[in-house]
Amino acid sequence: MSGEGALSVYARAKELEREGRSIIHLELGEPDFHPAGPVNEALKGAVDAGKDRYCPVAGVPALREAIAQYLCDTRHLNVTADQVVIAPGCKIALFMALMALLDPGDEVLYPEPGFPGYSSITLGFGGVPVAFELSERNHLQPDPDEIAAKITSRTKIVITNSPGNPTGTVYTDEIQRRIAELAVRHDLLVLSDEIYARIIYGGQYASMLSYPGMTGRTLILDGFSKSFAMTGWRLGYTVAPAPIVPALEMLAVNSYTCVAEFSQYGAIEALRDSAGATAHMVAKFSERREQFVRDLNRVPGFRCLHPEGAFYAWVNISETGINADELCRVMLEEAGVAAIPGAAFGAAGTDFVRFSFASSTATLREAVERIQRVSSAWRRTAVVR
Ligand code: PLP
Repeated sequence: MSGEGALSVYARAKELEREGRSIIHLELGEPDFHPAGPVNEALKGAVDAGKDRYCPVAGVPALREAIAQYLCDTRHLNVTADQVVIAPGCKIALFMALMALLDPGDEVLYPEPGFPGYSSITLGFGGVPVAFELSERNHLQPDPDEIAAKITSRTKIVITNSPGNPTGTVYTDEIQRRIAELAVRHDLLVLSDEIYARIIYGGQYASMLSYPGMTGRTLILDGFSKSFAMTGWRLGYTVAPAPIVPALEMLAVNSYTCVAEFSQYGAIEALRDSAGATAHMVAKFSERREQFVRDLNRVPGFRCLHPEGAFYAWVNISETGINADELCRVMLEEAGVAAIPGAAFGAAGTDFVRFSFASSTATLREAVERIQRVSSAWRRTAVVR
């Protein structure tokens, strides 16, 4: 297995801060919002009511029901509460799903650049990660022909991630339909990582589960970290076909036992979203996206497409004439701006840098000003467009 680039950049950035440097943190995938007031109140109420015991392994029934209803309301999905298994984070949901499903030698197709866990966890369970590329040539969309060409008799799973980290890609309807057709034709399972489903900048979200033939072969992975700004609560879930649920419960029993009961009551309120917090947060992200992408495109040698979802700017820096590691080093050490070299998301990300724009417009403006100031380090080599 391997670590995560975001966390190592974060560690260095914190070190510089301890030395008294001012650092703008654009490395972590963490909303700068906090959960809405009623969510915190629900959590506190649950603690006061003594909801601090061991609880059902697959989750508190009321939360599993609320998730089924939420997926019906927001994604028009018809799933039942007993298909939902609560986990301490979406990453653990992914981990448990791969542990439950993989036999040694099984091949897993996954998007690259992509969330580092897809290949790392697959390797950890003896599987073989097989990347399909999100290339600029294809507007950072998957290419179903490439996926088809990479399917073998050992392929068991296709991982999809729309909107995607780190590119912000929202897969088109046509591409999702074609991936679904491939899954049906080759009898594959699809792990659809929908953690950013609520953070889209226009259009209606379509889950992989909604395509023909996908019931019975799709596992949705989601959680509360991004859409509800609850990263530190460590709350996620899997929605699995009924025959797979007992395996996920077996793994939960043998590892985390259950997820903290009081936080599950807070999560029910997050889904109810009585304060309209998610829409408010996404409207703010949308403003920041406009400003930040425009400003980044003015930095010599930077080229950034418009992300359609999530809160990342994925910048091609090949025209700066220096590599992404060196560029990130200069930005962090000399300008105090922390961002992640794209290779942290797989080899296909080598010429890119990922910036999170989950910071205020003023902070993002200052970040670009600082980058402009140190850009003399590569201005001489940059291709002028
Ligand atoms: N999936 C993707 C695509 C992510 O970007 C992340 C977090 O960055 C996760 C899963 C993990 O989410 P959680 O914090 O709920 O474990």
